[in-house]
Amino acid sequence: MTDQNSPALQALRTGEDALWLRPGGPARFEDVPTLVSAAEIGDAADRFERFAPILARLFADRDWDGQVRSDLFAFPEAAGAPPRLLKGDHALPMTGSIKARGGVHELLAHIEHFAHAAGIALDDPAATAAARPAFARLRILVASTGNLGYSIGLVARAFGVSVDIHMSRDAKAWKKDALRALGATVVEHDSDYSAAVARAREAAAAEGAIFIDDENSRLLLTGYAVAAAELAQQLADRSIPVTAERPIVVYLPCGVGGAPGGITLGLKRIFGEAAICLFVEPVESACMLAAMASGERPAPDVYHYGRTNRTIADGLAVPRASDLVLDAVGPCIDGVLTVSDAAMTQGVRRVWRELGQRIEPSAAAGPAAFAPFLRAAAGRPGWEAVDAATHIFWATGGSRLPDAEFLPLIDAAD
Ligand SMILES: *Cc1c(COP(=O)(O)O)cnc(C)c1O
Repeated sequence: MTDQNSPALQALRTGEDALWLRPGGPARFEDVPTLVSAAEIGDAADRFERFAPILARLFADRDWDGQVRSDLFAFPEAAGAPPRLLKGDHALPMTGSIKARGGVHELLAHIEHFAHAAGIALDDPAATAAARPAFARLRILVASTGNLGYSIGLVARAFGVSVDIHMSRDAKAWKKDALRALGATVVEHDSDYSAAVARAREAAAAEGAIFIDDENSRLLLTGYAVAAAELAQQLADRSIPVTAERPIVVYLPCGVGGAPGGITLGLKRIFGEAAICLFVEPVESACMLAAMASGERPAPDVYHYGRTNRTIADGLAVPRASDLVLDAVGPCIDGVLTVSDAAMTQGVRRVWRELGQRIEPSAAAGPAAFAPFLRAAAGRPGWEAVDAATHIFWATGGSRLPDAEFLPLIDAAD
């Protein structure tokens, strides 16, 4: 039974900031679904290891060891404020967004499979370079609001793979231009993300090409999940405690749910209730909030609740959450918060001022949700440990934003 009049769904209907928190407190180890296994996440980590020398060579213009890893930044300490960190996936190598973990992982799996079948020795640099014409026979399609298509297109073209990128109306012109310059085909749709996915899926089926399905991909999910062990190591290196009494609160910008879902799965497997995983969405694209607060399956779309799916946060402009994520991760999502476009713009400015890091509005969803979450958790039964928590904002993209996109964001008045 779900309560269609719950405060979360009421706020969603009226277009106010909304919040859903797991009744009774954060999910524990025993709440983590087993649909996606720890072994699958291990396979993804191994695949990234195998590809590191290959990627380092293909992207040799940058001084890089081929590891898809990001830095952890500490905000300056402020009197009376809890410790805050920023996980720097906005500056991930190759793509400048978190898609280097999930979408790119699935692409690498297809490349590996194709190379094996075609007898291309991926561990031989000369053979991989000479195989560009052969890789052109590998046809891949993907749909995107921008970053997924940009990331997959960029890495696919580095191998010589043939890609069609179906872009929803949210995609920024600079990403489409960059892809065309690399030899990717960009198909523009004047529709939302879900519709672009449906069109691309049909087109892939019609020609028998591979479709990277952001709404329903285990390879995507496991690629993101690898990031959890990386963060755990960084926290250990800094002697930051992660216990039920002193948890981490991790703020994860959410579109379709794959990136935050994979990371949550990984973190909950390592830390249980000591990692509080919050998904953050734009008010107008609150598809995960709609799904978690209503409990409906298949996931409802945001239009049903009167929202428009129009937001400055193009990476999060998704009207319907992934049912795979809801099945594989839903029972260990601890909370969903929605934030306004204005709050995300302010978050971009704060991160620029405090850390000098260039992030995009989508990536600023976490900082925007910080104060509202603290207010909501205060005094709530089951959430007492938040008082002693370390807060980690997952910055998901933006280091590649051109000045023409970024400067207007930080010039705006507070
Ligand atoms: C894709 C993306 C997200 C969210 O990922 P989903 O898998 O769609 O939930 C968040 N931030 C940025 C910048 C992204 O590009």
